[in-house]
Amino acid sequence: MQFASISGRLHQVISPGRVLDLNTASGGDLPANPHQAYERWDDVLAFAAGTRHENAHEVSEQMFGNPAPQPRQVFAIGLNYADHAAESDFAVPESPPVFTKFVTSLTGPFGEIVVPPGQVDWEVELVTVMGRRAHRVAAEDAWSYVAGVSIGQDISERVLQRSGPVPQFSLGKSHPGFGPIGPVLVTPDELPDRDDLELGCLINGEQVQKGYTRDMVFPVPELIARLSAVAPLLPGDVIFTGTPSGVGLGRTPPRWLQAGDELVSYIRGVGEMRHRFVAPAT
Ligand code: ZN
Repeated sequence: MQFASISGRLHQVISPGRVLDLNTASGGDLPANPHQAYERWDDVLAFAAGTRHENAHEVSEQMFGNPAPQPRQVFAIGLNYADHAAESDFAVPESPPVFTKFVTSLTGPFGEIVVPPGQVDWEVELVTVMGRRAHRVAAEDAWSYVAGVSIGQDISERVLQRSGPVPQFSLGKSHPGFGPIGPVLVTPDELPDRDDLELGCLINGEQVQKGYTRDMVFPVPELIARLSAVAPLLPGDVIFTGTPSGVGLGRTPPRWLQAGDELVSYIRGVGEMRHRFVAPAT
């Protein structure tokens, strides 16, 4: 099944362009707010599996927002693909480097992103959204705690990210608009192989990243096991799971996003996001 947030309300996506407002369709039983819905994800799935679709309505996918706009925790993983670790001049990590993207950086799958001063880079990533509280979860059980997956971009300003005595990953990756997610949340059972998805992105039509989630150093179940060994993961929490090679930092010469660039990010079987970068207002 697929879900989307439209005007801040959780919808089931019946087919491309046809959606059902789950709060309305359930006679007010299910919450409209996506994060309240993640608290009752089993109820959402049960209702969605049995819905009659005549109440669905047509809507442009351009109206879809971030399906997880207000997570209590955002986890992000660095260097989770060996080829990206190599282009960043790091060894393949023995444990996953973890940082956060502050929630004010999150945004939807379509629209404009302001380019701040510095070196602004792209990182297409698989995003997972939790559907159950997960504390000390074993890797073999981990997917059952995931509500669904979506596309993410871990936009990164490299000057701030690498400044100071220790790297500033969290701050350098948290300008407004630096965390787009969407357009849909796809339940893991709907994916042909939830552990092997093609992801990539294009700038002005030129493909710059293409990879497969099977090449993760720490696959999704392992990430959930390791994160939840320390911090309970809460319904609606988001994990940015790392990026494959092809970022601007790894190029010779390096390449950075500029005002006017269009970035298209995709995961095959999930969909695509489309953003235009713009200069700050003067
Ligand atoms: Zn990243």
